[in-house]
Amino acid sequence: MVHELYQETILDHSKRPRNCHAMADADRKAEGYNPLCGDKLKLYVKMEGDIVRDASFEGSGCAISTASASLMTESLKGKTRTEALALLEKFHDLLTSDAEVGDGLGKLVVFCGVRDYPARVKCATLAWHTLKSALNGADQPVSTE
Ligand code: ZN
Repeated sequence: MVHELYQETILDHSKRPRNCHAMADADRKAEGYNPLCGDKLKLYVKMEGDIVRDASFEGSGCAISTASASLMTESLKGKTRTEALALLEKFHDLLTSDAEVGDGLGKLVVFCGVRDYPARVKCATLAWHTLKSALNGADQPVSTE
């Protein structure tokens, strides 16, 4: 039952992604590509000091990568750079370890089922890898390979 709810949330965010637009006054931008699936995305972040004031993305990808970018941009607003990177670690743990994780992840727990599909893990983490490069100010496009 819980998993059905998770599926529904992912489907909803993939069909009607939040924060899916370019941002003209973004301070940070990064591009990500997952060659395994063909997911591409461009991430925009607006910082105010150390705090993520706004985040948005554009891209074309599968349902998982789109839903992940949508939920990620929602979760980021108001977080400090350090908190955002800590969330990335937790999200990565959620998808790659069998340990019971979920604390502080909020809605992002809907992706826990992805750990059963290793090929899709990169779809779910693409937005987060791209975020890391945006926050670190890297100019090179990131690839999950
Ligand atoms: Zn994908």
